Amino acid sequence: MVRLITCQQAALLVAKRHDHALSAAQRAGLWTHLHHCRHCSRYARQSSLLAQLARHTALGPVRSPLAPVRVPPLRVLAEAR
Ligand SMILES: [Zn+2]
Repeated sequence: MVRLITCQQAALLVAKRHDHALSAAQRAGLWTHLHHCRHCSRYARQSSLLAQLARHTALGPVRSPLAPVRVPPLRVLAEAR
């Protein structure tokens, strides 16, 4: 049986899951909570995006998943001069 968790507990699990594996009961409780709570669901998505951004920053140039940068091909840049 899945135990209902509070928003505060869900937020802690969202933060914890980026660094540690959650138990099956924690994953089930978090999944159930996120399925029913739009506030925590939004927080979880934003937290995942920030974690991805942090990984990209640590590995090399920043490419934000929030606002991808589109650079025109060099030929287009040369024609604009
Ligand atoms: Zn919640």
